[in-house]
Amino acid sequence: MGAALQFRPDHKFSRVSEITPDFLAREGIRGLILDLDNTLTRWEEDKVAPTVPEWIDALKQAGMRLVILSNGLREKQDTVARALDLPLVRAPMPKPFAVGFLKALEVIGLPREEVAMVGDIVMTDIWGANRLGIRTMLVEPLSTRDFPGTKVWRALEVLFNLRRPCGRKPAP
Ligand SMILES: [Mg+2]
Repeated sequence: MGAALQFRPDHKFSRVSEITPDFLAREGIRGLILDLDNTLTRWEEDKVAPTVPEWIDALKQAGMRLVILSNGLREKQDTVARALDLPLVRAPMPKPFAVGFLKALEVIGLPREEVAMVGDIVMTDIWGANRLGIRTMLVEPLSTRDFPGTKVWRALEVLFNLRRPCGRKPAP
């Protein structure tokens, strides 16, 4: 993969509920690694966004394997994982480091070609997964608030226009 493409998502959505079981089936995706802050919840809240439980249920019913991979705060990770009844991977090194993604793949138990990462930040969620050959789906952040360090990532996203999907075709 070209260096520039590593920073761009394969697909882009406004919110997670737009990622339907039908779409995932067409793409050959059987498992999702889910970011937490500003993807499943607003950054400043512990409770999941209104349409998220229903979306998660639909994915589970479709047989999708799911795991949360988060750089966030422990207590919140536990609360959300329990509320959605999902396995949780706490990255020993934060995304975009590979170790958390590799642990998440282990939990999902599928070849990485059948797994996609869903998250709101290009420089952590998307870059980290792209480098490992995991397909990537970018969503708009649920809140404008975030960890202070994320401001740097947001500035880079704007500067290099990284939030635009690259339109890569899935592997045959
Ligand atoms: Mg996030």
